[in-house]
Amino acid sequence: MTGYDCIILGGGASGLFAASMIIKLTSGKASVLVIDGNDRCGKKLALTGSGRCNLSNKNATADKYHTDDPAALEKCLGSFGSSDAVAFFEDTLGVAVVSDDGLFYPATYKASTVIDSFRFYLEESGCIFKLGSKCAKIFDKGGSYEVILEDGSSYKTRHLICATGGCTYPSTGSTGAIKTLLKGIVAQDDLVGFKPALTSLNSKMAGIKALAGIRCRGKVELTDGKTVTDSSEGEVIFSKEGGISGICVMDISGKAAAMLDKGIKPYVIVDLLGASSAKLYKMIEDRRLKFGTRNVPGALTGLMPRVLCEFVCRYKGIDPETKMSELGDKELKSLTDSVCALKIPVDGYGGADKAQVSSGGVKLSAVNGSMQYRSHKGLYIIGEALNVDGRCGGYNLQWAWSSAAAAAKGVASDV
Ligand SMILES: Cc1cc2nc3c(=O)[nH]c(=O)nc-3n(C[C@H](O)[C@H](O)[C@H](O)COP(=O)(O)OP(=O)(O)OC[C@H]3O[C@@H](n4cnc5c(N)ncnc54)[C@H](O)[C@@H]3O)c2cc1C
Repeated sequence: MTGYDCIILGGGASGLFAASMIIKLTSGKASVLVIDGNDRCGKKLALTGSGRCNLSNKNATADKYHTDDPAALEKCLGSFGSSDAVAFFEDTLGVAVVSDDGLFYPATYKASTVIDSFRFYLEESGCIFKLGSKCAKIFDKGGSYEVILEDGSSYKTRHLICATGGCTYPSTGSTGAIKTLLKGIVAQDDLVGFKPALTSLNSKMAGIKALAGIRCRGKVELTDGKTVTDSSEGEVIFSKEGGISGICVMDISGKAAAMLDKGIKPYVIVDLLGASSAKLYKMIEDRRLKFGTRNVPGALTGLMPRVLCEFVCRYKGIDPETKMSELGDKELKSLTDSVCALKIPVDGYGGADKAQVSSGGVKLSAVNGSMQYRSHKGLYIIGEALNVDGRCGGYNLQWAWSSAAAAAKGVASDV
């Protein structure tokens, strides 16, 4: 059995970052083994940002995430935030980084650049890779850890970093393995079940499928029918299956999924045009004057897509063929209110194959500031395997880098 100063389980975003940082901090003295079940590293990283890799966000603060321990999250992000990550990418890995309104990308806008830069740096620094065989079992040997792979090979270390990710896009290798790998080592109470977090929502609302292909910029709010529990702004996209997606929908999807799982009916209130109700009423009223002889969708042409107008008319019990001039003020107000705040019942959410991130994993409160499991010296957990999930916009990769940096500092100070 071969021994290493550090073994990293998972060659995804957080695993590759941790390996690079340990090597940097120990000036290449630490022997590091990266194990990944795939035959190449960074398979999920390659998909990020639609292949462009939105690698961080200048506003990556704890309020952009869900976790069981916001204070610990804030501390970790404060110790190694977006500027530290960008500096590491530029100075150590040689990735030129650009900012688009505070969202950071590699200057090439290619995720493959990031993966190649990790690979070059790690291979040149003597990091060892064992690819193509998954870890099947971890043994705590009291002061050291033994990992057994599916191909029967085994490796030993004093520092084991688990960076096996969450449970979404399982085709990339992230299958929620942390739960089984750490069974018997991590207390059941320290684990939160994985759930899709950034995903699409589905509705069975009558006629909604007719909106397929509609994209509108506006605001979405999540409610149980009484209280608004979350909100976001951006593009809302309707699909032919009755799905609602877009970055702002994904942002509120985790809470909507949790409500559904608890048997609470969620509603998404969509502001379809992003205009204030008073302003929109005035615009519609003007059109009643100007284009009163047209039917309603005809009069509102240029203000909103025809199918959207027909849908809202039917929803409000107004025949779309009605002449615009025949609409009374009350109907005008009702139409305006629906466009500004369409209340869509949520009946389901996209599963692990559709979600970008999962919530759940090992509780953040169960690890210390170095991401070391409190009761097991030398056992670190980082990235999506921890119970931290962020909004869209580079926050999740920033968490991968921040948690990896914390563990790397812990390991480097002990080898
Ligand atoms: C389509 C898509 C787009 C995204 N876009 C963005 C974006 O633009 N910005 C952003 O911030 N976030 C984005 N994310 C989220 C981001 O990719 C993840 O949060 C991040 O990759 C998590 O890093 P990780 O290292 O924890 O896990 P992963 O990157 O998932 O890596 C885990 C690795 O562990 C390996 N592994 C798992 N189990 C085992 C085992 N038993 N043995 C050996 N190896 C194992 C896997 O093969 C995998 O390589 C996106 C996600 C998706 C799916």
